[in-house]
Amino acid sequence: MSARPRIATVWLDGCSGCHMSFLDLDERLLGLLERADLVYGPLVDVKEFPEGVDVTLVEGAVSNRDDLERIQRIRARTRVLVAFGDCAVTGNVPSMRNRFPVGVVLERAYVEHVARNPGTDFEPEVPPLLERARPVHEIVRVDVHLPGCPPSADTIAWALDELLAGRTPDVSPRTRFGA
Ligand code: SF4
Repeated sequence: MSARPRIATVWLDGCSGCHMSFLDLDERLLGLLERADLVYGPLVDVKEFPEGVDVTLVEGAVSNRDDLERIQRIRARTRVLVAFGDCAVTGNVPSMRNRFPVGVVLERAYVEHVARNPGTDFEPEVPPLLERARPVHEIVRVDVHLPGCPPSADTIAWALDELLAGRTPDVSPRTRFGA
């Protein structure tokens, strides 16, 4: 861990609910920022994921080509990568489309029942979907899984305390899968 730890948060294919729970840390965010720097994420106006990040919380599944490139770059620049919430841990809601081919999903959403400008030719503006939405650990190594939809603010605060103390949080007693 750096002398002053560097924390990032990332939003892939998720609903932002995990970040809302992060915001629910409320005044504990101030305590966190006394101990660490928030160097990247939706709450920070930084465009490029930086080098040398100690802890990254990743919300969401890996669902499109942009997600795929981002998570590989983030993994290479992060010491402890946390799958943050059920979409990152299991695929959860984004993976509900996995039982259908991508073309069928796009037709359903953007052609069938669409009255104006139906079509599925979105490139290059929209990155193409992967054949399946995948949990983060299927693409890169994950160091900590933090389940929940979303994880509670108390769980996030506890996990960050553990990580900043140099420990790997054991989340099992805090989930329905735990003892
Ligand atoms: Fe939203 Fe739940 Fe997925 Fe978090 S785990 S991004 S709250 S659906």
